[in-house]
Amino acid sequence: MNPTLIQKLEQLNGNDLYIKRDDLLPFSFGGNKARKAVYFFEEIKKEKSDCVVTYGSNSSNHCRIIANMAASTGLKCVVISPEGDEEKTFNLKMVDCFGAEVIRTPLSSVSQTINNVMDDLRKQGHNPYFIMGGGHGNLGTQAYVDCFSEITDYENKNGIKFDYIFHASGTGTTQAGLICGKILKNATNEIVGISIARNKERGGKVILDSVNEYMASLGSSKDYSMHVNFTDDYITGGYGKYTAEIDDTIKKVLVKYGIPLNRTYTGKAFWGMKEYLKKSDICGKNVLFIHTGGTPLFFDYLKEI
Ligand SMILES: *Cc1c(COP(=O)(O)O)cnc(C)c1O
Repeated sequence: MNPTLIQKLEQLNGNDLYIKRDDLLPFSFGGNKARKAVYFFEEIKKEKSDCVVTYGSNSSNHCRIIANMAASTGLKCVVISPEGDEEKTFNLKMVDCFGAEVIRTPLSSVSQTINNVMDDLRKQGHNPYFIMGGGHGNLGTQAYVDCFSEITDYENKNGIKFDYIFHASGTGTTQAGLICGKILKNATNEIVGISIARNKERGGKVILDSVNEYMASLGSSKDYSMHVNFTDDYITGGYGKYTAEIDDTIKKVLVKYGIPLNRTYTGKAFWGMKEYLKKSDICGKNVLFIHTGGTPLFFDYLKEI
């Protein structure tokens, strides 16, 4: 995989701001789910699976990319999705367009449904591969360990050090990967995950669990909790909820840089980063924002404004 572009933007509250364009990864509108999916599909190929099963909501970037990659490699794809969320987002339209089978189930019976679907597929003679929602798990973590290496390479080549790395944090896999990358390289960058939904306690624990699981797979176990900086100050009411300030940030970034953000992830995180820098009086630093993608959600936003 070629490293994604790092661009210098302008000053932000007296800091030099850079952006890493994971949204420009060259498959299905890119994003962090595309980076993770590559690793899962390598594994799928190795295991000679003929069918992929995953889970996610209507607006899931992960489901779009898995359905796209499955279709492009000729694999059957089943997406399990919670009921009561019937909005036809662009991501969902694409999942349909890729021919994935979408199974709706009440939130409370998701894991049971996953088990049933996997059993049925095996009975029909398939060899199904299950990917956790959001591309959670060691392979997803690995993808962002490797992303962290790209960042370190950029720093070394350009004689610069990013004091802060900000990004939208959901299932925590992206943040866990960045943290493991930092640990493995003995780096000192402060990685700040802006929660887009989970509270600090739950989200922070899931990140630490993922870090521990990945580091244990390399035979290392220590207390890594001091590396987890996950803030829930900018959730604005929960998953997919947004404010006028977030919309204003999205518009400004689009006009100024021609870069699309969205309400659920990157717009919320970019706005959260601005507030965090202000609130913590951070000035004169090098700050990197990772654009984790979700471009189809930008068009959902555009349809509404
Ligand atoms: C899923 C997603 C995230 C969150 O990534 P996690 O690894 O789940 O924390 C951030 N941004 C976008 C655009 C996403 O689709």
